[in-house]
Amino acid sequence: LQQKLIHANKMTSLGTLVSGVAHEINNPNNFIMFNSSLLVDFWSDIFDHLDDKTPGQSIGNMTLAEFRSDIEELMHGIINGSERIKNIVQDLKGFAKTESSGYSERLNIENTLRTSVRILEHQISKTTGNFIMDIAPGLPDVNGNEQKLEQVFINILMNALEAVASGDSLVEVKCYPSAGKVVVDFTDKGVGIPSDHLDRITEPFFTTRQNCGGTGLGLSIAYAIIKEHKGVIDISSTPGEGTCVRIQLPGCE
Ligand code: ADP
Ligand code: MG
Repeated sequence: LQQKLIHANKMTSLGTLVSGVAHEINNPNNFIMFNSSLLVDFWSDIFDHLDDKTPGQSIGNMTLAEFRSDIEELMHGIINGSERIKNIVQDLKGFAKTESSGYSERLNIENTLRTSVRILEHQISKTTGNFIMDIAPGLPDVNGNEQKLEQVFINILMNALEAVASGDSLVEVKCYPSAGKVVVDFTDKGVGIPSDHLDRITEPFFTTRQNCGGTGLGLSIAYAIIKEHKGVIDISSTPGEGTCVRIQLPGCE
């Protein structure tokens, strides 16, 4: 019995576990990043030196220039992979941070939305001159965790901003009460989502933004959090026209 009790005491929350794993991955990954960047410089010095000494020489059946470009490509592969790990760890930390807090605060979603938008203020004004926020009066309160819901709104808004890329394409946040629920619509007139991607985008690690730091964790985290709040997310999209992400959360009595 005693052993069982000790075991129970040591059980950690998912948040603590994820945060621990993220930390343990981050440390060796930092070594990889740091050492790779040193190696890149190091190789570059070696090649410069060889080139100076005996211009136009070859190693085996490759010219020095070909050899150099192959090595640089391999090094970039390592650095890109490492950067991807860094982004995933960062997203996991964001998730872990919200996991540790309980969630039965009574919240005003308007405040939560305004905080999320304030956090992204800089990115918003950099991305579009056509950002609209429209919050109807008479919203019921919602039972939940403010930090987690902020994370959801931020993840969805970031996707919208990435989808419109730049210019004056519309990004709109609309919030209104409906039959005792709070509805939030995030609409963007961005690239849209191909229909064969629609049912995959909430899978963890599904991303079409591999090359610009995407991890594919944003929407899966949003889904998990909204589910915990007994809410629903619906995503509709037309490629080339835009996307609407609708969140519905049950209101308090
Ligand atoms: P990430 O943003 O890291 O790629 P997400 O889980 O946030 O991961 O999104 C997964 C994928 O869903 C994105 O890579 C993108 O292809 C698609 N997506 C999500 N939101 C939008 C949007 N508003 N417009 C177009 N595509 C979107
Ligand atoms: Mg995202």
